[in-house]
Amino acid sequence: MGLFRLLFWIAIIAGAFWLWRRISRSTAARPDAQNAPTQAAPMVRCQHCGVHVPRDRALTTGEQWFCSQAHLEQGSHHNEH
Ligand SMILES: [Zn+2]
Repeated sequence: MGLFRLLFWIAIIAGAFWLWRRISRSTAARPDAQNAPTQAAPMVRCQHCGVHVPRDRALTTGEQWFCSQAHLEQGSHHNEH
């Protein structure tokens, strides 16, 4: 008589524990997905070497983008002498 009641409570507690673990796991996994970098700057391609750099770090001559001052001065591949 008492044993049946004990098993009943064990089942309740085990079920609640399983449910709590499921909820805590699913809520813990959520912030990781939202922690993705949101400040991704738009990327531009260097016209000389083709490397991609954030636009706020790139140099431009107006229409063309370059990764560095040296590449800006050397210009694009098409202007090689
Ligand atoms: Zn470059």
